[in-house]
Amino acid sequence: MLLTSQKTLKNSVSCTGVGVHSGQTASLTFHGAPAHTGIVFLRGDLSTKTEDFISSHIHSVVDTAFCTTLANKRGHKARTVEHVLAAFKGCGIDNAIVELHGEEVPIMDGSAAPFVEMIERAGVLLQDTPTAMIKIKRPVSVAFGDSKAMLIPDETFNLQMTFNAGRRLNNLSWTFDFSPTFDHFRDHIASARTFGFYEDAEKMWAAGLAKGTSLDNTVVFQDGILMNTSGLRFQDEMVRHKLLDALGDLALLGRSIQGKFIGVNSGHTLHYKLMQEVLSSEDNYSF
Ligand SMILES: [Zn+2]
Repeated sequence: MLLTSQKTLKNSVSCTGVGVHSGQTASLTFHGAPAHTGIVFLRGDLSTKTEDFISSHIHSVVDTAFCTTLANKRGHKARTVEHVLAAFKGCGIDNAIVELHGEEVPIMDGSAAPFVEMIERAGVLLQDTPTAMIKIKRPVSVAFGDSKAMLIPDETFNLQMTFNAGRRLNNLSWTFDFSPTFDHFRDHIASARTFGFYEDAEKMWAAGLAKGTSLDNTVVFQDGILMNTSGLRFQDEMVRHKLLDALGDLALLGRSIQGKFIGVNSGHTLHYKLMQEVLSSEDNYSF
């Protein structure tokens, strides 16, 4: 197996935007970090101390309903972290500090493309340390209803996502296979946007969620018809976004994965259960 070097960012880069659930404005800055730091969040509006880092590891997950929320021991939260984590994973960045002023990561255009642009602007620095790996030794799977997620042994890290849209979209179904290389990620996955159904949005608004949702950051269907006048970025944009979410969620294992991920209609909660299941027995994995 080829060991690759850890990577971080050369310079700091920032953006500002609205949280998709809170509707609140937050600013975000990516900073470089030493080898073995991992991707850590820091609530810059609450602390500047390294001991208040919020690690992007499944042990820090406190909620997976609609988005992934991480917290440290002091209760500092970082909400909707998945697209940022997918951007770092897709760009092969191992170490960075994500300074967040506000509780929720800005949704930007609903995809990971703005974060990839930031990473490209910051520049990438090779660190003279091998990447930490987790190797999947035997198949592990979890299921709920018509959703399924599994990790199986493979020589490389690769992902396959299937999305069956169901009755609301004429039972359309898509499958997307992905071997994460930077170019493939940037050109085929990063710009796929969050999507949803108008009927669900009404319920979420009533529950005080999705306050920052708009057609500028979400692909929305109403009665099976696309509401965004600008159209889709890919004909199968929805399955690509599901894959983007899976990539971001799997980053919470905290290491580069040697194994294949297969998802069918899977989302944050099932991905979280899959990672817990993998780590529940040392027969499933090795470092
Ligand atoms: Zn997403």
